[in-house]
Amino acid sequence: MNDCIQQKSMISEQTSKTCLFCKIIKKEIPSDIVYENDKIVAFLDIRQINPGHVLVVPKEHHIDLLETPDHILSEMMTKTKKLANAVMKGVKADGFCIGINTRPASGQVVMHTHLHIIPRFKGDGLRHWPGKELSKEDMQKIKKDIQAQLQ
Ligand code: 5GP
Ligand code: ZN
Repeated sequence: MNDCIQQKSMISEQTSKTCLFCKIIKKEIPSDIVYENDKIVAFLDIRQINPGHVLVVPKEHHIDLLETPDHILSEMMTKTKKLANAVMKGVKADGFCIGINTRPASGQVVMHTHLHIIPRFKGDGLRHWPGKELSKEDMQKIKKDIQAQLQ
């Protein structure tokens, strides 16, 4: 194992020992689990944005989406489809939002990858993020800057 990988896995191991969601996964902390299999667990968020707010969490400790292997993300997404449908029917919601906060600037507080399923009800008062209209030049520059990172 090279130094960088070893260091990274040591950080990940240290973090998983103190990680809140790892403790929930190991049932060291109680939670309202609605579904689990060998790869993921889904439980009610302790602070419900709307009734039926569920967190979909991989059992392996990874700090965020970018650090999570693709096969785990696939499992999270396919089970999110199944769970979101069950949540909608279960709480009689009219729709739902999904969100994956990534890095503290986004509002990520728990550093273990997780996806929020937030049921939505007509007139529930939750607002979408306000959009800004940028100049054509700014839009072109942003597009090019992103495309450059995809090569
Ligand atoms: P983040 O802001 O990191 O995307 O979301 C973390 C979420 O974890 C928050 O919505 C918060 O309410 C939830 N949470 C924090 N502590 C606990 C806990 O002990 N149990 C459960 N079920 N959810 C928690
Ligand atoms: Zn963890």
